[in-house]
Amino acid sequence: MASPLDFVYRDGGLHFPGLGLWMDPHRPVRSGEWVVVSHAHADHTARHSAVILTEPTRRLMRSRIPGARLEQVLGFGEALDHHTLEPSAGGTPFRLTLHPAGHVLGSAMARLEADGDSLLYTGDFKLRPGRSSERCEPVQARTLVMETTYGRPRYVFPPTEEVVAAVIRFCRESIESGTTPVLLAYSLGKGQEILAALQDSDLPIQLHPSSARMTGIYEELGWRFPRWSPLDPETARGHVVITPSTRPLLAAQPGLGPLRIASLSGWALDGRRNAAPESSCRFALSDHADFPDLLRFVEAVRPERVFTLHGFAAEFARHLRRRGIEALALGEANQLELVL
Ligand SMILES: [Zn+2]
Repeated sequence: MASPLDFVYRDGGLHFPGLGLWMDPHRPVRSGEWVVVSHAHADHTARHSAVILTEPTRRLMRSRIPGARLEQVLGFGEALDHHTLEPSAGGTPFRLTLHPAGHVLGSAMARLEADGDSLLYTGDFKLRPGRSSERCEPVQARTLVMETTYGRPRYVFPPTEEVVAAVIRFCRESIESGTTPVLLAYSLGKGQEILAALQDSDLPIQLHPSSARMTGIYEELGWRFPRWSPLDPETARGHVVITPSTRPLLAAQPGLGPLRIASLSGWALDGRRNAAPESSCRFALSDHADFPDLLRFVEAVRPERVFTLHGFAAEFARHLRRRGIEALALGEANQLELVL
């Protein structure tokens, strides 16, 4: 039987035609329909005309995508009834709550309730507690739509403390040997996570301008980090440089001296695959759930059916089916599955 929570997978996101609501589409929605933006990463945001989001995501998104739009800010756990949306979101009554996803600051999972049915959409999430994001709080729903970036059994991340200790060792050894350690990390999320992890290391730190801009917003929102200064290639020697790109450093050669570049990503478990080509070192630090945590997450939500997206979506759906859980991959992977 049709439910008001029936959705279509479109433009990388979910569209609920019965509710006049979207979640995380890649392409701008300018139709007047409301869009839940789960977090401020570029692959989850666009120039929509009306968005529902947390306050940190609003601040981060504004900094990345300026311009006018309607914004409905929701605190975690705060309920939004459809009739409070102006303009109205559509005919069918629904209730929406956002819950911490633990991926980056402000990242939210969205839970919808309508006509006795419920659905949880994760966006990106991480179960392990982070130093620069709210802790993930799984909630029960009948239907679960989840990201499965690392949905393959081989992806089991080492303990975070071990990885952080290895990164600090890498930075110290580099500086002692007269090279500048460069940590390649996204300007939103990973950059703040490794910055916070250097808290007790007493290492001098410089941040790329885009990382500095994002970190400034975290600090305005009350998050604390070790002392850092903006990247200045003239003085970067002897500092740990946290940056999403090596371009400004390579442009400052040969004056800056030798660099030692490390990438921070869950894909480090694959060796060279997916690694930044210029990096000589890789550390498995991720802002996503690894395979065991994906399974733990499903257990915590206790859904009747699961839809998977991103990464190894088809493979993870197969794992769930083997465990007796109704599961299907969305998007391309889904087509492949149907062919098989
Ligand atoms: Zn993300």
